[in-house]
Amino acid sequence: MADIYDEILALKERENATILAHYYQEGEIQELADVTGDSLKLARAATEVDTGTIVFCGVHFMAETAKMLNPEKRVLLPDLRAGCSLADSCPAPALAKLQAKLRGEGRRFQTVTYINSTAAVKAISDWIVTSGNAEQVIRRVPEDTEILFAPDKHLGSYLQGVTGRSMILWDGSCMVHEVFSVIDLIRAKRRMPAALTLAHPECPVNIREQSDFVGGTEAMIRFVEDQAEPTDFLVATEANMLWQLENKVPRHRYHPVPGITCACNKCPHMARNTLETLRDCLKNGGPEILWKPEFGPATEVLRRSLLS
Ligand code: SF4
Repeated sequence: MADIYDEILALKERENATILAHYYQEGEIQELADVTGDSLKLARAATEVDTGTIVFCGVHFMAETAKMLNPEKRVLLPDLRAGCSLADSCPAPALAKLQAKLRGEGRRFQTVTYINSTAAVKAISDWIVTSGNAEQVIRRVPEDTEILFAPDKHLGSYLQGVTGRSMILWDGSCMVHEVFSVIDLIRAKRRMPAALTLAHPECPVNIREQSDFVGGTEAMIRFVEDQAEPTDFLVATEANMLWQLENKVPRHRYHPVPGITCACNKCPHMARNTLETLRDCLKNGGPEILWKPEFGPATEVLRRSLLS
């Protein structure tokens, strides 16, 4: 392990690169990164990078976002196949068709899209949100305007509850957050009655209802930091988040909420990035995210939503 770490650090120096890693990457990758974070933190961090190259250890839409916000930088993704089931659930032509139908019915609406979406979808949206800033952005949509929220129906239904706005929800979901077992969660809560349950808002309502705290990954970190006494936490989000929680706030104990078919939930798309593919992409200067025509309009929406 030490050898490959040294190799990556030497290549990073040679290529004048900054490594950004999402909290859902394996701990060994997060340990090597210059910045770790959720989508919002990493998108903002990408705009402050002073090296010529960004290596994005995350999934495709995240690296695309980094490229859109930094067109002059070389943005590398260790494995181009690192996709996202949620982004895939909302193809741009299908969203455009629904928008046209709603306009045809004379409905006044704005499209609010989760950052977990393709550049083509972002380009036809009015706002882009992350789980970290969604509430603030939704409050910028005039009260007399309907909201079409895409692509995550669970995050959308959570946001309907916290903002009191009714929304037209796209029928998409994340394959990782959708499969937590509420039966196993209830059993775990019985075994550990003093434990607090944390859930990501991408989880279905049956999991959120059983939780003491619902929030994005940065908000989860702040919540556990605020608990002074050592506490047991049941955590319903991607399993690698436990590495970050243990690393940042080691006084607590963290337990993954099991999935329906597995003991812990790891995102198979994030898992495509490994130490080996990270090393190879630095060594070979690719795969690289190249500029596409839809990046222009998508960037305007991103800047307005995330950076202002
Ligand atoms: Fe997409 Fe879900 Fe994986 Fe996140 S955890 S990248 S939303 S499939």
